[in-house]
Amino acid sequence: MKDQYYSTLFDRVAHSEILPVEDGRRILDMGQLDTLELLAVAYRFRREYFGRSVTVHILNNVQNGMCPEDCRYCAQSASSTAPIEAYAMKSDEEILAEAAAAHAAGAGRYCMVFAGTGPSDDRVEHLSRIISEIKRRHKIEVCVSPGVINTDQARRLKAAGLDRLNHNINTSEKYYRHICTSHTYAQRLGTLQAAHAAGLAVCSGVIIGMGEGPKDVYGMARSLRDIGAESIPVNFLIPVPGIAIKEAVGLTPAYCLRVLCLFRLLNPAAEIRMAAGREMHLRSLEPLGLYAANSLFLQGYLNARGAADTRTLQMISDMGFTITSDVPLAALLARTQEGACGTAEGIKGLSELRPFQGRV
Ligand code: SF4
Repeated sequence: MKDQYYSTLFDRVAHSEILPVEDGRRILDMGQLDTLELLAVAYRFRREYFGRSVTVHILNNVQNGMCPEDCRYCAQSASSTAPIEAYAMKSDEEILAEAAAAHAAGAGRYCMVFAGTGPSDDRVEHLSRIISEIKRRHKIEVCVSPGVINTDQARRLKAAGLDRLNHNINTSEKYYRHICTSHTYAQRLGTLQAAHAAGLAVCSGVIIGMGEGPKDVYGMARSLRDIGAESIPVNFLIPVPGIAIKEAVGLTPAYCLRVLCLFRLLNPAAEIRMAAGREMHLRSLEPLGLYAANSLFLQGYLNARGAADTRTLQMISDMGFTITSDVPLAALLARTQEGACGTAEGIKGLSELRPFQGRV
């Protein structure tokens, strides 16, 4: 009976059926289906759309902290007491130097992230000049996470050469009020619609482990399908000391794999990323996540450290995958050194957040 479910599941997704919530619950329920069988189904879609390649993303906190919003999961929020390094926007030279370093480190995509509600028109102009310069210098995709923007601002960023705009939905529409009260889910959707209207690809992700239920997890994956998100970072909550949500709830390695499977099966052609918290919550099962996901972050997250580059690249190589980059994986592996980017724990220091400050 179960065996038939897996083959039927593949056929239904292959025939563009949108899986209903009942399947979502079943996939997430640890007692019902076999995790490896689900992964095998998810992998068939991952392989169809992305082969055995992994896209590596490197984040740049272009501006960090001092945000007036109250997102309860965020170390940069007004309600957080996390001891992060807060700073205003980096200099253009720093941002360009970090883009060059990301390209050399094998990143297929360079993501510039701003804390805050949203940018002024002047900030959008400034950012547009930087985007144009990065695109002129490097063969790399550029993504920006600017906060809430309108269609006109999105068009200006697109004209500058921006490939993708990130704005996470973070959780389900119903659960949103439990994680933030200073803005709404609808405002977040509005930014994604503005980006698509401007012709930008959309990256929009979620955070799992904030107390949401299976119906919420299904709701997130379904909303991102309805939005047509081209890229979906699936984060697993890192409970940085000082944020309002004190602990991650319900995350076991096998459950995290099932979450990745659900996102793949509802969004078969999307770039699914095993994002923040992959080291902490997938633990020894982390390599298996690449059967459902086709991308990940290198060099940690916004304020939380991630695994050393060597460990992550070795994992990709050991799994028989390759990376989407100008730089061959073997060359990157030879170049990196164990421990080059710290460990999988702790909050980043200024030298990790601003490696080129005062040097360019
Ligand atoms: S998630 Fe973004 S908007 Fe929310 S507090 Fe953090 S930086 Fe501010």
